[in-house]
Amino acid sequence: MRILLASSEVHPYSKTGGLADMVGSLGKALARDGQRVGIVTPLYLGIRERFPALRPVGPELDFSLGVRQVRGEVWVLEAARGLTIYFIDQPQFYQRAGLYQQDGVDYPDNAERFLFLAKAVAHLALQLDWKPELVHLNDWQVGAAALLLHHQSRLAGSAHAPRTCMTIHNLAYQGVFPASQYALTNLPWEYFVPDGVEFYGHMNCLKAGICYADVITTVSPRYAREITSEEFGCGLDGLLRQRQDSLVGILNGVDYDEWKTTGNPYLKYPFSAADLRGKADNKAGLQAEFGLPVNGETPLFGSIGRMVEQKGVDIMLGALEEMLHANIQFVQIGSGSTVFQRAFQDLARRFPQRAAVRIGFDEGASHRIEAGCDFFLMPSRFEPCGLNQMYSLRYGTIPIVRGTGGLDDTVIDPKEDLERANGIKFHEYSGQALAKGIRKALALYESPDLFHRFRLNAMTSDFSWSRTAARFVELYQRALAANQP
Ligand code: ADP
Repeated sequence: MRILLASSEVHPYSKTGGLADMVGSLGKALARDGQRVGIVTPLYLGIRERFPALRPVGPELDFSLGVRQVRGEVWVLEAARGLTIYFIDQPQFYQRAGLYQQDGVDYPDNAERFLFLAKAVAHLALQLDWKPELVHLNDWQVGAAALLLHHQSRLAGSAHAPRTCMTIHNLAYQGVFPASQYALTNLPWEYFVPDGVEFYGHMNCLKAGICYADVITTVSPRYAREITSEEFGCGLDGLLRQRQDSLVGILNGVDYDEWKTTGNPYLKYPFSAADLRGKADNKAGLQAEFGLPVNGETPLFGSIGRMVEQKGVDIMLGALEEMLHANIQFVQIGSGSTVFQRAFQDLARRFPQRAAVRIGFDEGASHRIEAGCDFFLMPSRFEPCGLNQMYSLRYGTIPIVRGTGGLDDTVIDPKEDLERANGIKFHEYSGQALAKGIRKALALYESPDLFHRFRLNAMTSDFSWSRTAARFVELYQRALAANQP
């Protein structure tokens, strides 16, 4: 099969979150499976320097963007056999310090930046000499490509147009812009209607994807159900209920070539389920790295991620405020809203022997936290899939999660299945409920045999990509078969 993926971030070229991991790994897994795969993504600052094998390919891109003509170039990288990355070079749009924002504020021209990207995706989908059959769009930044391709197939006849799959990684981010920005699509206004891209008088790029893609996926089965409800639907639940027959939840996989406990360049001490001594060494290393007392006995809790409401950082602060009076330690790396950043830094100042917080993004530190901690906190308000809890499982670090979305689908609490339990779940969204989960973790820590069993269950949980990729291939085949003329 010939598949063109599109995403505004792709690991290892660019990343702010799980989207990058998912698209990078899916591309690799599909190509390994023998499919012909391309990935379209922006050429951000620094990529060319880090990947000198990139080379430009003609011809130049030249698109109308409202009343302006904007040019760009395509650079390619043969990342693996059957896997080509198409980088869209438009220096004014993409050569910036951040991907989406600066100092916590979205760039004011994000509509232009990402409609240009969507146009490049639609253009390559139609022009590449290997003729992609299926275009797989990820998140709002490329959602409009589904509409552009739909429009194109209306004009030219659908027989040769590629089919489209839209994956929602997080429904809370929809790419909503003032109606006037719709002019940047250069499409007729007939699509700017409630059954199309119009959303309460605005343009909604994710909605364009949901309305016009042939099939829709999201990143876990439970989240696929949740988003059709008013509570989680972010205003699009009605549309998602309408399209329910075309909506499936496919759990993200984990790239175990990268997230591994042996032969991992980020980890000084390898370890495995059969020999956990290296895990204790990683714990000591992590305590030292974060300036905490080095003590193997003290239970060590960790957290990695965006410091935003979605991640439950408010209840994490509440629970830690209470629990840091006990003999525990906490390390964290993350960045996000300045209010939350300050609150965590303040907590670390008040409990210098127990809590250490680093603001920033550091891939290596994220591996060391996963490897060195005993427990991992993920109390999300909602969580489409979540990757860190799956990384924790592989690293023998017991996740403490709120039972929502992908967290509920991937972690097994002893109340659900004592034999197979690999984590701790709580349900109520409150600091008290999380604190109770932490107290359960401390009780587990005091029972070495049981704790060891949780660890083995965790480390042998399998979320490998081959299974996930196979489900996507099945779905792509369904999309192609359903639309045969
Ligand atoms: P989301 O996509 O909602 O941010 P996920 O758990 O699905 O959350 O994925 C987050 C990904 O980003 C993981 O790979 C995680 O390790 C990584 N990540 C998030 N914040 C940081 C950070 N500050 N430093 C290093 N890696 C981070």
